[in-house]
Amino acid sequence: MQIVDVQEEIDHELISHDQIMAKIKEVAAQVSADYAGKVPLLVCVLKGAVNTLTAFSQAMSIHLEMDFMSLSSYGSGTSTSGHVTVRSDLTTDVRGRDVLIVEDIVDSGVTLSWLVEELKRRGAASVEIFALLEKPARHQVQLDVKYKGFIIPDEFVVGFGLDFDEEYRNLDSIAVLKPEVYEGATA
Ligand code: 5GP
Ligand code: MG
Ligand code: MG
Repeated sequence: MQIVDVQEEIDHELISHDQIMAKIKEVAAQVSADYAGKVPLLVCVLKGAVNTLTAFSQAMSIHLEMDFMSLSSYGSGTSTSGHVTVRSDLTTDVRGRDVLIVEDIVDSGVTLSWLVEELKRRGAASVEIFALLEKPARHQVQLDVKYKGFIIPDEFVVGFGLDFDEEYRNLDSIAVLKPEVYEGATA
């Protein structure tokens, strides 16, 4: 099957672009109020949170800084083991900073709970989380996500930064792909 249009590979859209942007603006207004008088450091977890970080930071009305971190968590199959390594680190010293982690999705929560502890170990004054999506059905650890976008069912989603095999990050909405797309992938 030769498909050239990415849209044709979408089974159904879960969250539209307009819904995403409206929600991000709502959260940004709340965060701007909560951090008034402070200059939070937004920590974007690469690569999936890039689109969220962009839209979210542009909707914020206070001064802020941003930095980026790439993490990998190893495990068997679809579940993470809790062993997290830093692929690419922040360039900012987080000591005394009010850190807000920006994440695409909380699945097991293992990666983020590790990151929260790591940033606290480094001396951050406070560490909170904004996650665009959350899949409560799959949580493995207790994690306090202060700012949330959408709760979604236990389905594999792509778009707005989220990938399948590194592709589909450029979709401007959150979608579920047609089963044949996953089946066509090399196992
Ligand atoms: P966890 O919360 O299990 O430690 O890891 C969350 C990470 O798994 C996310 O940042 C994301 O990269 C990936 N992930 C979890 N669920 C999905 C999903 O439905 N779609 C995509 N594309 N990635 C997911
Ligand atoms: Mg992520
Ligand atoms: Mg991925």
